[in-house]
Amino acid sequence: MNPANRHSGLPVGGRARSMGRVRRRHSAGAEQDLVWLLDLDNTLHDATPEIFPRINLAMTDYVARRLGMPHDEASALRVHYWQRYGATLLGMVHHHGIDAHEFLRETHPFPDLHRIVDRSHALREMLRRLPGRKIVLTNAPNAYARGVLRGLGIAAQLDGLIAIESMRFAGRFLPKPSRSMLAKLIARLRVPARCCVLVEDSPANLHAARACRLRTVVVTGLSLGAVHATGRLRAGRGRRIDVQVQSPWTLPRIVHKIR
Ligand SMILES: [Mg+2]
Repeated sequence: MNPANRHSGLPVGGRARSMGRVRRRHSAGAEQDLVWLLDLDNTLHDATPEIFPRINLAMTDYVARRLGMPHDEASALRVHYWQRYGATLLGMVHHHGIDAHEFLRETHPFPDLHRIVDRSHALREMLRRLPGRKIVLTNAPNAYARGVLRGLGIAAQLDGLIAIESMRFAGRFLPKPSRSMLAKLIARLRVPARCCVLVEDSPANLHAARACRLRTVVVTGLSLGAVHATGRLRAGRGRRIDVQVQSPWTLPRIVHKIR
């Protein structure tokens, strides 16, 4: 069995062995019991300058082509579904019956990720020092996510990858911020929710995680073009977000705030 799958109970996707080696967890202390659920885009790398514009354009092209509508209407519908469902994919599947895998494949056209995503020694070192299991939890498709992790050079530091294809239950996609998906994930991880830490740039996803009793860390400063209204975020004891960091490289320094 795939090692990451053994930990998470969720599929990790093809070539999963590259995502991590067998890592048996002994009771080496409370920090080793933590499970870090790491968002990918604008949390571990900056997707704003080049990647998001290309995804948005590809999605608009796909919607226009499949639904036979003008580009501006297709763009508005893409945004509407994203705002309503958390992912344009869900709206297209629910209302138009499109093939989800075709949509994911055609809207993430990145044969050149190796050129766009730079290797990050700082990220690799951070993950090496961070205690506990590290699993990437992303609403992006598996092939794209694996490409980004390869580009960053951090696949070997991870215990698993859960992409959107794996957030499907009883035939329905339940990506972040689905509380149902998070609850199922926690059950399959077989750890108390308080041992799981969601690291994210999306307030909606963090708030959902907090409602499921996960610990929460918001990353606010990775992307200069971040679209979220992070200025309104408040982190701290008693709030829905536990800790705020500017970048993921500081995570090992805030472990004491999580416990
Ligand atoms: Mg993100």
